[in-house]
Amino acid sequence: MPGQTITSSKCNRCKRVIVPPRETCPYCGKSAGLMETLELPPRGVIQSHTTLRMPPEGFKAPLSMALVELEQGALILCLGSEQSSLPINIGDTVDIELDSQERFCFRVVS
Ligand SMILES: [Zn+2]
Repeated sequence: MPGQTITSSKCNRCKRVIVPPRETCPYCGKSAGLMETLELPPRGVIQSHTTLRMPPEGFKAPLSMALVELEQGALILCLGSEQSSLPINIGDTVDIELDSQERFCFRVVS
């Protein structure tokens, strides 16, 4: 769904942004109460990617996965959209959306 934002948490101590949101910062450890909810635009840049020839059960091969950096440095692992057969490159701009199972999927913006 275009326009849908991605909910994340920002740590008020180390300023890192985490997706999906958590109550405790994975970098600082016990910082309960210091996390702030943030809505990020569903667009990012591919930092690295891989293609699984033998993906886990329930996925179609080949399965593309990419680590995508959103605004404020938040990193999320996304699955390739099934419809997309475009080659993936580091540095590509992608749109992020949730699939029917609430998993993050990316689509290269051409
Ligand atoms: Zn932190």
